Amino acid sequence: MVRAEQVHKSFGSIEVLKGIDLEVRAGEVCCLLGPSGSGKSTFLRCINHLEKINAGRIWVDGDLIGYRERGGKLHEMREKEVAAQRQAIGMVFQRFNLFPHKTALENVTEAPLLVRREKRAEVRDRAVALLERVGLGDKLGNYPSQLSGGQQQRVAIARALAMQPKLMLFDEPTSALDPELVGEVLDVMKDLARDGMTMIVVTHEIGFAREVGDSLVFMDGGVVVEQGNPREVIANPQHDRTKAFLAKVL
Ligand code: ATP
Ligand code: MG
Repeated sequence: MVRAEQVHKSFGSIEVLKGIDLEVRAGEVCCLLGPSGSGKSTFLRCINHLEKINAGRIWVDGDLIGYRERGGKLHEMREKEVAAQRQAIGMVFQRFNLFPHKTALENVTEAPLLVRREKRAEVRDRAVALLERVGLGDKLGNYPSQLSGGQQQRVAIARALAMQPKLMLFDEPTSALDPELVGEVLDVMKDLARDGMTMIVVTHEIGFAREVGDSLVFMDGGVVVEQGNPREVIANPQHDRTKAFLAKVL
């Protein structure tokens, strides 16, 4: 479902991603761990071409992201084509980024209505079902300010799902939440995983990685230091940098 080959990304003279290789099969959950500044968010943003990569290639469901290949050469796609690719990729951030002047329901219906111009009744039914699924069937009319952080993040997940993505990217979705609200968001993500969604999750929630992850990728300094079965990597990390990191978060 996702394949990254030798992805390089620099900001000015600073190389942040130094050749990332990664493969996530359909229906798998890949947990991405690593210290602050290791390039996790940058890599996620490259997957939906919010950041342009300097070298390498990324495919999502067989589509080369951001470029067309012609005669062995890569040509940059137009913004419109990139936008179409992005529709297949849902993203949930640390901060919920909901539209503050829209209700929970309106936040979820916004993109399918405006971007895809789908029929209002169908979009509404799907949005209600999604909000019920994330446990917010009784909060359809609430504005973000009338919701807890955990509830807002669940709306954000429902909003991403409303575009019926093939892949969901999560960037530390629980790290801005009060501890007692983390579980309800992780439960929604577990439910999604059980349902077969392909997910890449940047997280420091080791329990989640162990329980739900099919693979764990540990990044440091813009490279993949170690990867494997989450339970094995957590129980028996091979590299000193992985050991040091896990010792801090466990
Ligand atoms: P954290 O755990 O703190 O979220 P991260 O692993 O997600 O860290 P990134 O946000 O990907 O790390 O940042 C990696 C490096 O790239 C950092 O040194 C950061 O300062 C730099 N960086 C990220 N975005 C930009 C940008 N737009 N311009 C310049 N430098 C950037
Ligand atoms: Mg980050």
